[in-house]
Amino acid sequence: MTDLLAATTASTAPDAAASGRTAATAHPAASARPAASVHPAASARPAASAHPAASARPAEPTPLLDARSQLAEAISLLGYTDGLHQMLATPRRELSVAVPLRMDSGESRLYLGYRVQHNFSRGPAKGGLRYAPNVNLDEVRALAMWMTWKCALLDVPYGGAKGGVAIDPREHSIAELERVTRRYTSEILPIIGPERDIPAPDIGTDEQTMAWIMDTYSVNSGYTVPGIVTGKPISLGGSLGRASATSRGVTHIALAALRHAGLDPARSTAAVQGFGKVGADAARFLAEAGVRVTAVSDQYGAVLNAGGLDIEALSAHVRATGSVVGFAGAEALDGAALLTQDVDLLVPAAVEGVLHEGNAGEVLASVIVEGANGPTTPGADRILRDRGILVVPDILANAGGVIVSYFEWVQANQAYWWRADEVESRLEERMLSAWEHVLGYAEARDLSLRTAATALAVERVAEAHRLRGLYP
Ligand code: NAD
Repeated sequence: MTDLLAATTASTAPDAAASGRTAATAHPAASARPAASVHPAASARPAASAHPAASARPAEPTPLLDARSQLAEAISLLGYTDGLHQMLATPRRELSVAVPLRMDSGESRLYLGYRVQHNFSRGPAKGGLRYAPNVNLDEVRALAMWMTWKCALLDVPYGGAKGGVAIDPREHSIAELERVTRRYTSEILPIIGPERDIPAPDIGTDEQTMAWIMDTYSVNSGYTVPGIVTGKPISLGGSLGRASATSRGVTHIALAALRHAGLDPARSTAAVQGFGKVGADAARFLAEAGVRVTAVSDQYGAVLNAGGLDIEALSAHVRATGSVVGFAGAEALDGAALLTQDVDLLVPAAVEGVLHEGNAGEVLASVIVEGANGPTTPGADRILRDRGILVVPDILANAGGVIVSYFEWVQANQAYWWRADEVESRLEERMLSAWEHVLGYAEARDLSLRTAATALAVERVAEAHRLRGLYP
């Protein structure tokens, strides 16, 4: 049995010091924790406002406060104890590392990296690795917590984790990114493994990043360990269908949600924020399903074509230029205006906190399907619910990636590969069954889909915790 409560503040990587690794301290960022450590979620709720839409969101997104606020609501609904609340609000293990990089020019730079393992009650930790300049420990903590709920909700046998390096990958050569990845992997080596914690791609990382992690881990193990990562290249044991799995799942859920809202997908319009691994394929699959995708954006700007964007041509433009901006088959649009387009479906598939109290009152879509993690703040959630807008939460909507990551892990551990149609049909079955389950739970209790999904997930994690018991 594992110690589920006492370890919440314990050191990470017990062998780190012994192995002489640098900067892998227990909780070097402990001072960054919010002061309200006993009930972090309790004080996290934004105050109810008479005119919530009038107040703008704070300048910086606060995903950890958002995640804790969502957890607090589920805990209160389920009537769980303060002790359990504290356990679930606090990561089991977190590691901050210094990642020195030798640049191609010969100079050296230092980046900060993190790996947070939020929960292990249902299995090894699982979660993506993000490379972005604003990555910080609190963001990684939030993303790790959401992974725990996502894995539990979709009933894949994992806990939640997340990692990140505060680096802008666009500023580096491939060789520099390889060295950063290998050094970061070496630093977190003591706490990852196919039975401990399994990284995957997220913002700024891809299958090549996963190949470097797999190789670094395997070289240090002395044999090839394909189960250490998911989202790796097919030729190294990746799963058919993994690269597009998150977007396929988003599309299955979006089509079901549109129908649930009384809208015919073939007569519906959509706007997609973010044109990366999730957003680009989501736009493509939606268009293939007959939805008219009229607007998309990326971090540089947005484009609009009221008659429907040619997603294939737009993807070719992005491959050639690195951005949707300047696409000949569309007019330019302000990036922020994408979220308030007059469309039936809005798919935020970029970053956290983009739908907030300052703009939720202006959203015109009837259905929001969260391709990104944490795009909607709790304050925006309340406004959108009051306005009758259906929000399908991230832990359900974008779970296709972790479902096929689970399939990839199973295949890699058995060295037995499935056909693409097997992967895709099993993905669809799991996504739609989770959708029905969450919808039924929400309707029976008059809850938002987010509260229902979070409560269902928290119930499953709490049940696993109860059955395993508290060690010693
Ligand atoms: P990515 O790096 O491949 O793409 C991110 C996209 O978002 C890029 O087009 C970027 O330009 C754009 N972007 C960044 N900031 C923006 C902003 N402020 N406004 C508009 N666009 C912006 O990352 P990804 O893997 O597609 O991940 C996107 C989101 O989906 C993240 O929240 C991630 O955690 C989540 N997610 C990813 C997966 C996966 O399998 N990759 C699975 C589940 C959830």
